[in-house]
Amino acid sequence: MPNPTLPRAVDAIVIGGGHNGLVAAAYLARAKLSVAVLERRHLLGGAAVTEEIVPGFKFSRAAYVNSLFRPQIIRDLELKSHGFTMLPRNPSSFTPCADGRHLFLGPDSALNHREISKFSTRDAEALGSYEALLEKAARFAEPILEKAPPNLGEGSWIEKLESLKELASLGWGALKLGKDLPLVLELLTAPARKVLDRWFESEPLRGTLATDAIIGAMVSPSTPGSGYVLLHHVMGETDGARGVWGYVQGGMGMLAEAIGRAARKAGAQIFTGIAVSRVLVENGKARGCVLDDGTEIQARLVLSNADPRVTFLQLTPRESVTGDLVKRIESMDFSSAVTKINLALDRLPSFKALPGHDPSPQHRGTVHIVSTLEEIEAAYRDACAGRPSARPVIEMTLPTSLDPSLAPSGKHVASLFVQYTPYRLAEGSWDDPGRKDAFADRVFKVIEEFAPGFTRSVIARDILSPLDLERIFGLTGGNIFHGSMSLDQLFWLRPAPGWARYRTPVKGLYLCGSGAHPGGGVLGAPGRNAAMAAIEDTRR
Ligand SMILES: Cc1cc2nc3c(=O)[nH]c(=O)nc-3n(C[C@H](O)[C@H](O)[C@H](O)COP(=O)(O)OP(=O)(O)OC[C@H]3O[C@@H](n4cnc5c(N)ncnc54)[C@H](O)[C@@H]3O)c2cc1C
Repeated sequence: MPNPTLPRAVDAIVIGGGHNGLVAAAYLARAKLSVAVLERRHLLGGAAVTEEIVPGFKFSRAAYVNSLFRPQIIRDLELKSHGFTMLPRNPSSFTPCADGRHLFLGPDSALNHREISKFSTRDAEALGSYEALLEKAARFAEPILEKAPPNLGEGSWIEKLESLKELASLGWGALKLGKDLPLVLELLTAPARKVLDRWFESEPLRGTLATDAIIGAMVSPSTPGSGYVLLHHVMGETDGARGVWGYVQGGMGMLAEAIGRAARKAGAQIFTGIAVSRVLVENGKARGCVLDDGTEIQARLVLSNADPRVTFLQLTPRESVTGDLVKRIESMDFSSAVTKINLALDRLPSFKALPGHDPSPQHRGTVHIVSTLEEIEAAYRDACAGRPSARPVIEMTLPTSLDPSLAPSGKHVASLFVQYTPYRLAEGSWDDPGRKDAFADRVFKVIEEFAPGFTRSVIARDILSPLDLERIFGLTGGNIFHGSMSLDQLFWLRPAPGWARYRTPVKGLYLCGSGAHPGGGVLGAPGRNAAMAAIEDTRR
């Protein structure tokens, strides 16, 4: 869509048209504020985009599956009427094993029982109780996602009173867990491995479940707090079905497009190809933004969808970021673990464990390749030493098995989400000639063990190292969550103690992206919560 004419002044500027920036814009516009979204790239969505990198092949170039996006936002913004459609996946995962067996898991509990029984009848019996515990933990944690975290240390008396009320409701939620409370607290803080070891004995079940605890994070299942990452990934739903991940029809960018339509309908103006170079600050208050070409747009509210490093260390004048926030942001962990490989394929892979190139259940969900706990630990150890994993952990998705519109007839696209690949290598750099291709070849070689002929099916590849994720999507350090989702960077500590309620030391400047509570993933919650904070402040 062509850009409208840039306004000279609006009530609110949103820096960045990632999904959270768009959600914020939609809520602000619905509150009758005039809003301009300024996105630096040529398209909307940030890390939730659909891009046709190879002619005829459309890729969810970064994020590739959805479950976390908050149902309330879907309802409020009527996203279904704006073209947002989910394609649920059943089964949701397929794990081929080296010995020729395989494991399907999904929303069908009878299928799960049958499948896990092939490996352990004890585990098959235990899965129901394990999922029930996760469900309880998710029910406890979900309301937390939709509100600003309490802030007891600083702020006005009104804020402190509000924080006390929130703490009380948190306490009430915890009390309602009853005898499960200690187990839920353990889940939130423990290494995922400790939890999984107690519940289950068989691979590949343990390994398949463990990948939820490490996905996108520079942690292993043995890292304390990886249990929370596991929980974070089961907190969503697809069309009301809890914990079910699905594809967005047309790719992840269609979600961003739908939010964009809702925001425009409410009156927001959205601009692409417009980069903000700095936030204008006068007397400690936001006054608007200066664009890369020097143009100034006035606004009394500025919401930044850029990550905390970019927002506070690049876009905001250093002298106005008071207190110890600069130091806090400088020491925030942005380490990355991910390389994303998008592939155009001339046929679906045929797995040794379940052969066949025609779209079948094994192609619909996430294919877990290299997923025993020991293999994950070994892959992590490589990355700690500054080396891309010798035997990387690979999650493969083949969305064309459910959404043929993404590729020419009979052809397919594949997403490979690959860990672990450190941002800084002990030797050389990701920019060294041939380095990325050599890594992709290593990944293909591992896939060949499970799906012979895979490499020959690849028509084109788009390899995004952590450096590419930083350059293309603006993700500092290639961190897919705008900062690690570790316990010291969550809830009232995200992005920094005292600044978890979307407000910043600059009056009128808010953080509305994944670097704010409740963090990364395609959730929309930071965008909505930040907009609510800004609206509340304008009403006060
Ligand atoms: C490879 C990869 C795979 C992932 N897979 C999944 C997945 O399957 N499911 C899931 O739920 N999550 C996934 N994630 C995580 C999720 O995509 C992100 O956490 C989330 O999309 C971030 O959204 P956001 O709106 O907060 O920020 P972003 O999407 O990062 O958007 C920020 C926007 O701000 C723009 N911007 C920055 N600076 C400026 C400036 N100066 N001027 C103008 N614009 C600016 C950027 O261009 C960008 O568009 C993945 C992420 C990656 C990278």
